[in-house]
Amino acid sequence: MQHYPDSILNLIRRISRLPGIGEKTAERLALHILRAPGQEAEQLARAILDLKAKTRLCSRCYSLSDGSLCRICGDPQRDSTQLCVVEQPADMVALEKSGAFRGLYHILGGVLSPMDGVGPDKIRVRELLTRVETEAVGEVVIATSTSVEGEATADYLSGQLARRDVRVTRIASGVPVGGDLKFVDQVTLKRAMESRRDVA
Ligand SMILES: [Zn+2]
Repeated sequence: MQHYPDSILNLIRRISRLPGIGEKTAERLALHILRAPGQEAEQLARAILDLKAKTRLCSRCYSLSDGSLCRICGDPQRDSTQLCVVEQPADMVALEKSGAFRGLYHILGGVLSPMDGVGPDKIRVRELLTRVETEAVGEVVIATSTSVEGEATADYLSGQLARRDVRVTRIASGVPVGGDLKFVDQVTLKRAMESRRDVA
């Protein structure tokens, strides 16, 4: 490795810090970039800079966005009376791929985990309750994972929402226990959404 000039060594070191990439793969990728046309290398570098400069959180649902509102919140075709609560943006992407849901989302940014000191104030519960109060929401679909923390979070949310004039549902069985939404296949996810049950 040390036989390479510093410019290549530097890139190999940077790439090998990415998850799942060992030094050998990093070396191969660095040499690939070196051989690629200048324009391609430039576009890759530009895409990384753009990602950091332009990506922010949607001001309404807190998913990732390059504008004030994300693509889903800005789409007038979506059913704004339905709000699906998920843990992370990747869960929203998984549900979108399944095509099972046509409403809007709310990204909690985590789950309740008292052991790790994550209480309701550390995830976006207050923001969810504000949305339910200020937007014309008819149904909140809780789609947190089926892990212990995901279920505890769902219970807590349904308790908080029960006092409000809104239907509260939980996506159904089919999502395996402990299942992270983003790893569940699309058919199962679609079925889980379709057979959701009332919880409050
Ligand atoms: Zn949004």
